[in-house]
Amino acid sequence: MRRDREKVEWRKLMWSNYGAPKWLFILYLALNRKLPTKDRMEKWGVISNLTCPLCQLEDEDIEHLFFSCKFTTGIWKKLLAWQEIQRTRG
Ligand SMILES: [Zn+2]
Repeated sequence: MRRDREKVEWRKLMWSNYGAPKWLFILYLALNRKLPTKDRMEKWGVISNLTCPLCQLEDEDIEHLFFSCKFTTGIWKKLLAWQEIQRTRG
């Protein structure tokens, strides 16, 4: 009855995570690149200004929002330090 399906790399991040359901839902959307970031909303015709409202420097997409925005980079650093997590670049 059950088919063999390809396992996604992020499955352990979802299934061994004890975060709040709302956080897990947002994580799921982000991992599947379904977050309503400005680049996606522009494609839907909802908005026309793609500028990141946090830094006002670049267009907002998921890569910018989570990895290159100067504003969110500061937040990530504080969160990771609080959780004593050392981030390695790979
Ligand atoms: Zn930004």
